[in-house]
Amino acid sequence: MNPPPADFIPFNRSSLQGRELEYIFQTITIGQIAGDQTFSRKCHQLLESTLGVKKALVTTSCTHALEMSAILLGIEAGDEVIVPSFTFVSTPNAFVMRGAKPVFCDVRSDTLNLDESKLEALITPRTKAIVPVHYAGVACEMDAILAIAAKHGVPVVEDNAHGLFGKYKGRWLGTLGCMATQSFHETKNITCGEGGALLINDSKYAERAEIIREKGTNRARFFRGQVDKYSWVDVGSSYVMSDVLAAFLYAQLDVWQVIQKRRQQLWERYQAELADWCVANGIRQPVVPEHCEQAWHMYYLLLPSLEKRQALIAHLKARNIYAVFHYLPLHLSEYGSRFGGRPGDCPVTEDLSDRLLRLPFFNSMTDAQQSEVIAAVKAFA
Ligand SMILES: *Cc1c(COP(=O)(O)O)cnc(C)c1O
Repeated sequence: MNPPPADFIPFNRSSLQGRELEYIFQTITIGQIAGDQTFSRKCHQLLESTLGVKKALVTTSCTHALEMSAILLGIEAGDEVIVPSFTFVSTPNAFVMRGAKPVFCDVRSDTLNLDESKLEALITPRTKAIVPVHYAGVACEMDAILAIAAKHGVPVVEDNAHGLFGKYKGRWLGTLGCMATQSFHETKNITCGEGGALLINDSKYAERAEIIREKGTNRARFFRGQVDKYSWVDVGSSYVMSDVLAAFLYAQLDVWQVIQKRRQQLWERYQAELADWCVANGIRQPVVPEHCEQAWHMYYLLLPSLEKRQALIAHLKARNIYAVFHYLPLHLSEYGSRFGGRPGDCPVTEDLSDRLLRLPFFNSMTDAQQSEVIAAVKAFA
């Protein structure tokens, strides 16, 4: 494979927001490169005070935060967990690792979020969790989802990998379920390369979350002076983020408004400048309901067909612009279909997964780069 040309426009590129290297240097000079030290605590405090969650814990990834939520909810073999079919594999996989069966729900054709009108029919006595994903950082219909969940006594975990700093009816995403998970993977708005967080809204999970995250020990209580030795008290794993990464992360989290503002500008420019072209070509732009303040996570288009989508990807690639698609329907995937998924189970997911295209969208994208992408898209016939 030839390397990309120097002036190519990637789909995503990570960038420094300012103080990352200075903070990383500090962790080394003060001798705090393991986890849960100065910079991890700064991240926790920032997330807790900004969002108003009971507890925030940075983790090695969003996948691991989802695994922690599965342990905290006591997921066991034979349990069922409802997830959208249109999501990243980790949403179900974290629960499948505990022996659960994923039950795939279709998505709404407007926001591509879990379709709340199809949710209740999927609930059985074995349903132990519902895990909605706020796709592209636009909120799911949480009032309806939470009402159905409460009626059946099923906890809701928000997979908020796309939605940090977005809102639903004025409330922060990540504060609506009993727990929520964040991703700081390099493809997300705010990043440290690989990382995540577990947000806890129901304080009954807070202490056990610390223990599970610290290899099943009460080390966190020990360091707070609440117990005089620390020992093995529960199951657990190594989900603590290194403070070297937390330093990088804090440098980005601390300027979250700057990051979000720039992404808003980029998103709104795509939306405005592609509007007429989309109408003329039968292409659908993203829909953001009035009551949702989106998190500006991605800019996607829905092409009329798979052939058109593939042709636009090739057209852009020929101009050194890298656009991508994602989320093959999980219920039809090699592994997901073992749980009984068949074509036709989630018709909206099956249809849109063939037609969705994501345009280059990253914090350091310049106006000139975006002009090039917009011009190239509009030159596609
Ligand atoms: C990125 C992503 C994840 C996984 O995040 P990691 O931090 O890479 O584990 C999970 N769910 C969704 C919806 C994602 O987009």
